[in-house]
Amino acid sequence: LTSSPTRPGLYVIHIAAEMAPVAKVGGLGDVVAGLGKALQKRGHLVEIVLPKYDCMQYDCIRDLRVLDVVVESYFDGQLFKNKIWVGTVEGLPVYFIEPHHPNKFFWRGEIYGEHDDFKRFSFFSRAALELLLQAGKKPDIIHCHDWQTAFVAPLYWDLYAPKGLNSARICFTCHNFEYQGTAPAAELASCGLDVHQLNRPDRMQDNSVHDRVNPVKGGVVFSNIVTTVSPTYAQEVRTAEGGKGLHSTLNFHSKKFIGILNGIDIDAWNPATDTFLEVQYTANDLQGKAENKEAMRRHLGLSSADVRKPLLGCITRLVPQKGVHLIRHAIYRTLELGGQFVLLGSSPVPHIQREFEGIAHQFQNHDDIRLILKYDESLSHSIYAASDMLIIPSIFEPCGLTQLIAMRYGSVPIARKTGGLNDSVFDIDDDTIPLQFRNGFTFLNPDEQSVNNALERAVNLYKNNPKKWQQLVQNDMNIDFSWESSAAHYEELYAKSVARARATNQP
Ligand code: ADP
Repeated sequence: LTSSPTRPGLYVIHIAAEMAPVAKVGGLGDVVAGLGKALQKRGHLVEIVLPKYDCMQYDCIRDLRVLDVVVESYFDGQLFKNKIWVGTVEGLPVYFIEPHHPNKFFWRGEIYGEHDDFKRFSFFSRAALELLLQAGKKPDIIHCHDWQTAFVAPLYWDLYAPKGLNSARICFTCHNFEYQGTAPAAELASCGLDVHQLNRPDRMQDNSVHDRVNPVKGGVVFSNIVTTVSPTYAQEVRTAEGGKGLHSTLNFHSKKFIGILNGIDIDAWNPATDTFLEVQYTANDLQGKAENKEAMRRHLGLSSADVRKPLLGCITRLVPQKGVHLIRHAIYRTLELGGQFVLLGSSPVPHIQREFEGIAHQFQNHDDIRLILKYDESLSHSIYAASDMLIIPSIFEPCGLTQLIAMRYGSVPIARKTGGLNDSVFDIDDDTIPLQFRNGFTFLNPDEQSVNNALERAVNLYKNNPKKWQQLVQNDMNIDFSWESSAAHYEELYAKSVARARATNQP
């Protein structure tokens, strides 16, 4: 456990609940790894701090070893020992914190969804800062993510900066404002925060229920930089309809709040090298894509009679946010339009899962429809490669990764104009968009008629103008969705914030 070397770039430490591929539930995990790697490539020193979950993909960690130190951290009026592990994930140094707490916080076979998540992650946030303090680290930026580590922001300014961990600016990224982690105000005291000071309207008090505290609000109020994952979503959450109760807070702090579109890991998502695929292919060799489509049809028992029948894909968590009623509608409408539909998705919501099981059953031997109701990484790659189009009719979508991955695999997105979809999918027929940026089919209203319109235009173009379709596919495959430009944007925000701090601290 050593303090950090001096070097020309910035020293950035991410404190997060997820990191792909070791501990991933959703997009947050991809961002921590993708942004971290891109910043490291740009010459910055990047480190990650994660809980040491029992259910991690341990085979993704290189050189995992326990350090010869014990970090003691405060919780519920006592000090608890934490074992500190270190290893390398995707080339990034990662610290894993293993608390010796009788509640076995990260020994549950589960990353989230426990009754005491507020305790688990407020404990972790404090232990992570304690690690940085005791190791004598002097980061320029501490970057925390979502409600689980938003506690870092108030903990840093109220407790750790006074203790001497005071080199850093705090950046907080909210990946989805739907999840705010509110809890009865008294629970905040467990990690040592002052409930009376913080349960106030201008600090952490929930804007709707006044005897509850809201960690995301705390992240917004107490951080120097606040980001979310697309420019359009950043606008939407500043409205009463989109802000999930936090719009007034975000408007008050609007000067430090910005939306930056996520990138994707273009090495992991690369049809030219993807070993999950039947055949690898590039934009200049689309025969390979056709072979993947044929292989998928065989694999799923779909009809191969008509090579030119469009294949629509949908890869998603089946939750209300994703527009499940519109997904269901799109299945039936695709059939009427003479297309094929493959859905890969699973639902944590029992009645939605049951409903889709019913549809899956109805079509189990059908020539043109297949529903696969599970999470399957390998199959997802094959579907991106096999499909001609991917439908994403989200009600709201902070960023969305599936439209970006789809385009990289030459599957044309049909997407609702919301959040990050609105910042990355541009309608082929929209005259207000320069021709070279048009890359898919969009619709505005979250209703069946609007889905029909976009779907019909896509199927018609596919069937009636194969040449133009091929150009569209090639154009989509050549768009740069790497982390490069997003990482440059974060770098600029970090650097400005650090420079401002240094300027104010000058004697
Ligand atoms: P969210 O984070 O809201 O689920 P995103 O579009 O940001 O949505 O990210 C979804 C990611 O999860 C994509 O990488 C997608 O390929 C993957 N995914 C979603 N559902 C499945 C599934 N059933 N099987 C495999 N991968 C899935």
